[in-house]
Amino acid sequence: MKILGQIIIGVAANERRDSGEGMGHMPISYNPSGYIKAVQAVGGLPIMIPIGDPNTTKKYISMIDKLILAGGQNVAPEFYGEVNLTKSKDYNRERDAFELSLVNEAIRQGKPIFGVCRGMQLVNVAIGGTLMQKVENHWQSAPYTQPTHSIKNKKDSVLSKIYGRKSTVNSFHQQAIKQIASPLKISALSPEDEVIEAVESIDSTLKFLGVQWHPDFMYAARKEDLNIFRYAVHQL
Ligand code: MN
Repeated sequence: MKILGQIIIGVAANERRDSGEGMGHMPISYNPSGYIKAVQAVGGLPIMIPIGDPNTTKKYISMIDKLILAGGQNVAPEFYGEVNLTKSKDYNRERDAFELSLVNEAIRQGKPIFGVCRGMQLVNVAIGGTLMQKVENHWQSAPYTQPTHSIKNKKDSVLSKIYGRKSTVNSFHQQAIKQIASPLKISALSPEDEVIEAVESIDSTLKFLGVQWHPDFMYAARKEDLNIFRYAVHQL
């Protein structure tokens, strides 16, 4: 679309009811700034899409060229037809419903989607896949800019063009893809436990790339993690 000569990237926002002492405990709508800064760094124009009425997503999607779905809470199991088997309270069902509507509308309007962590899981759910509710050993204690596990990237994947056939990634996820939705293929696995670490679309009606790690934490430190944003903004 290129309104005003810019590629406009909508980044779906998160909410906190309590932003903590430094911000007077006020409730906030926000994007982690890595998404915003990385999109700006590669020449896109990011705008935040706040959680709201799912009936408004048609308008939001019509305003943007591409959609980024960020990390955050676990996707609630009822959205993929399961009961909650965990003790986790890390859910925001209003966000789930709004973002599922954003995905459906983006697909209807032919707008590409880049999903990070929860964002990848949510798209998989939106198009018919399921999630593992709890995976072990994928929440690192190391700093978020430090890669802690390896990944193997499939030949002929977009991902291997950006990261090569082998790479290392950070890891902050409790859930992972269980059943992959049929319009997607696996493009990266964690070799030790076969956890799906990246997927991409194989269906021409869907333009989607999803990663389970956080390039938004790494874009300033490692060129591959900036280049995946470059790909998302300019080529996806
Ligand atoms: Mn991982």
